[in-house]
Amino acid sequence: MQDCIFCKIVRKEIPAKVVYEDEHVIAFNDIHPQAPVHVLLIPKKHIPTLFDLTVEDAETISRLHLAAAEVARRLGLDQKGFRLVANCLEGAGQVVFHVHYHLLAGRELGWPPG
Ligand code: AMP
Ligand code: ZN
Repeated sequence: MQDCIFCKIVRKEIPAKVVYEDEHVIAFNDIHPQAPVHVLLIPKKHIPTLFDLTVEDAETISRLHLAAAEVARRLGLDQKGFRLVANCLEGAGQVVFHVHYHLLAGRELGWPPG
């Protein structure tokens, strides 16, 4: 996707503070952090929303979860834990239409989320 901001990060056309990368996944710090730790995990493949996933994407999505745990371990969150959030469509607050998970940690996280 030519104009997708997250595809541009995948292609290294715009800068990002990358904290993890493998063949399927890239993770980088959110530009407007909502917590002391706020990392975005995205598939390298452009998928607009969770509704657009197909069974072919199952491995990629599993790898996003594995990457989240690895990022959390690297950041020393293995005792305190973290939250993984995906907003799907505007009604849930999705602004960037390339599937991503927010990894949040480092402060008290209220439940239910707003
Ligand atoms: P969402 O509202 O779930 O679509 O989340 C999109 C997230 O992307 C927001 O938390 C933004 O702060 C973040 N974001 C947008 N552009 C960038 C960028 N260039 N680098 C890092 N994070 C970004
Ligand atoms: Zn994209």
